[in-house]
Amino acid sequence: MRILLAEDEVVLCDQIKKVLMAEGRIVDVVHDGQEACFLGATESYDMIILDLGLPVRDGISVLREWRSTGVATPVLILTARDGWSDRVDGLDAGADDYLTKPFHLPELAARVRAALRRSSGRSNPLFQHGDVVFDTRHGRATLDGVPVDLTSQEVAVLSYLIHNTGRLISRTELSEHIYAYDGDRDSNTIAVFINRLRKKLGPDLIQTVRGRGYMIDAA
Ligand code: CA
Repeated sequence: MRILLAEDEVVLCDQIKKVLMAEGRIVDVVHDGQEACFLGATESYDMIILDLGLPVRDGISVLREWRSTGVATPVLILTARDGWSDRVDGLDAGADDYLTKPFHLPELAARVRAALRRSSGRSNPLFQHGDVVFDTRHGRATLDGVPVDLTSQEVAVLSYLIHNTGRLISRTELSEHIYAYDGDRDSNTIAVFINRLRKKLGPDLIQTVRGRGYMIDAA
């Protein structure tokens, strides 16, 4: 799952990025509102974390522009402690959730997990398909109850397919959600990740639709 993080406090940014990456998320970071607006409108994100107090262009106007141009990505806004009116404006502008600074990083991570669960239409953080169980909270999988070691790319691929259970996902779409903006995107390596996941988790979990992409059937 790929996340855009728009925050101008560099230290806080690094902390947030670290926490999210530890859960297998791909994180693109921007430090001003203009860049945030551009990337949020042109790249494929599963979630956006938007500080409202950004330089160059403020977060509320960025959020309004996204919503008015059809960007429907879930947005979590970050606001100042005394900014209750910012929170109201942010929610009215189309934010899905908010966090007041200062916050605890585990709370931010939990809100991201909850938002991603909501957008996938699932309430249970545990995904089960036959003998495979995947914990979407930590990106950990078991097969027949035995933990399976997955690389961060394998977690990224599996998370996105599980998030979209029952929907056919093309290689292009998959590559847009598992690589960062500055990452080396190669849709050919997707087949390699899929093969490895099949070897580790069994051949039945991920279906290949020849020439079109991959999907996980609703169990
Ligand atoms: Ca700020």
